[in-house]
Amino acid sequence: MPELPEVETSRRGIEPYLAGHTIVHAIVRNPRLRWPVSQEIMALSDQPVISVQRRAKYLLLELATGWIIIHLGMSGSLRVLREETEAGKHDHVDLVMESGYVLRYTDPRRFGAWLWCEDLDASSVLAHLGPEPLSKDFSADYLFERSRSKKMPVKPWLMDNKIVVGVGNIYASESLFVAGISPERPANSLTHDEIALLVETIKAVLLRSIEQGGTTLRDFLQSDGKPGYFAQELQVYGRAGELCRACGTPILNLKQAQRTTFFCPQCQR
Ligand SMILES: [Zn+2]
Repeated sequence: MPELPEVETSRRGIEPYLAGHTIVHAIVRNPRLRWPVSQEIMALSDQPVISVQRRAKYLLLELATGWIIIHLGMSGSLRVLREETEAGKHDHVDLVMESGYVLRYTDPRRFGAWLWCEDLDASSVLAHLGPEPLSKDFSADYLFERSRSKKMPVKPWLMDNKIVVGVGNIYASESLFVAGISPERPANSLTHDEIALLVETIKAVLLRSIEQGGTTLRDFLQSDGKPGYFAQELQVYGRAGELCRACGTPILNLKQAQRTTFFCPQCQR
């Protein structure tokens, strides 16, 4: 599943081909995604793109008359291709640019979304989202205050979009390992110092991942569009039974809120 660093990598990859360029029209081969592709997107004609932004895991294309909101779902990806490139079976949406490029959306499982909205503040998908993890609003004081009344384990709590956006399963597991905090600790048992370290770690882990995703940008025009996070060395995620790189203890896994958590029982307390 694309996580925040991959979405940010996609944003950086498509921005030069979209911002300041004009969408001639959209080609929607299959509108049946998680929700139907908005009519306004199917009807687009000659619309300049003002900016390409991101909120949580949503990509936001700012046009003069409104916003295209794109979510990659479980298996979606975006590529910029020459318009003559033939579309494949899972290529559901194209934005055809005046420049001769197309922004092509591929999604085998079709859990993604292409929505239109005139006013971002009124968008139901963006309402109630917590702060961006890389913003100043996501601070030790903020997270400490939010944690005081929460007895639930810290790992699923961190993955709640109302607390902070974009900390998915991989990055929650990895950040708790780096911060040395057990995923099973009740959120309100963490000290201010532990929360401060966790906030710093989440920012560092996400930033490093975005930077590594950035190294795949030169492949962006190629047809495989590989996600950045597979390239990086993960400490605990997906490593159950393998040895902790720090202490040599076997990495354990457990289920929390229907998601698999990976951790080192020695390094994380
Ligand atoms: Zn360890």
